[in-house]
Amino acid sequence: MGEFKHKHSLGQNFLKDKKVLIKIIDSVDVKEDDLIIEVGPGQGALTKYLKLFHANLLCYEIDTRVEKYLNSFIDDKTKIIYKDFLSVDLENELKDIKYNDLYIIANLPYYITTPILEKIINTKLDVKAMVLMVQNEVALRLAAKPGSKDYGAISVYLNYYYDVERLFVVDRTSFDPIPKVDSAVIRLKKKEKRSLVKNEKFFFEFVRTAFTMKRKNLRNNLKKYNLEKIEEILHKYNLSLQDRAENVSLECFIDIVNNLSK
Ligand code: SAM
Repeated sequence: MGEFKHKHSLGQNFLKDKKVLIKIIDSVDVKEDDLIIEVGPGQGALTKYLKLFHANLLCYEIDTRVEKYLNSFIDDKTKIIYKDFLSVDLENELKDIKYNDLYIIANLPYYITTPILEKIINTKLDVKAMVLMVQNEVALRLAAKPGSKDYGAISVYLNYYYDVERLFVVDRTSFDPIPKVDSAVIRLKKKEKRSLVKNEKFFFEFVRTAFTMKRKNLRNNLKKYNLEKIEEILHKYNLSLQDRAENVSLECFIDIVNNLSK
């Protein structure tokens, strides 16, 4: 890696373990006419393996200092774009690319994991699957099931669109420089069939409110809504207002918001 001065502020921990890289690409089935978006190619450790799919590849990197490492990847199907992924108008950038399915595969810059996920959800792009390296602690939250202490608003949001699995843990020594935390690779597969919420904006707001104070029960957090109606629905799921949001399943949340919204 020579003279390169890694920027901690940009989450620059480059993956150096080939076995991990192979496990990442083995976890998705990308075809030549598909499109992969990679966030933060860095010096191209993962890009090199993504190229093996011969699919269309679009990489967004904020740090132009890595240009010399990435130039050799560019061809008819591979573009490297030097922009802050969070400021990119994705729908607009993709409109001229012909592709079948869309995948997002990345070793994420951890300092913006949640904003990246929120952006992907909010752009309403039809993403078939994502395979993402994230901080292990975050992976536990994203893939958490009701009843676990890691279950929170983000677990519910993601689970609305995707089946989320924590595939494997990656030791910190697999990176250069070695970060202070362990990592994990998660896979999010688009749900082919999902229960629909009538008003997504309200759904997001309601779930966020239910989790406002994690230690408080639903009665405390949901004061501003029709508690009687909520209680009625909770009973169907063997829950009550005395329970905490961490015990409420996605189905139950959807049932409640669909009954509360017009
Ligand atoms: N993919 C490489 C690898 O696996 O070795 C690098 C991964 S490193 C954890 C994260 C990368 O994201 C860095 O190259 C960093 O410069 C880049 N990055 C940080 N913030 C970004 C942003 N807002 N938009 C695009 N790339 C960003």
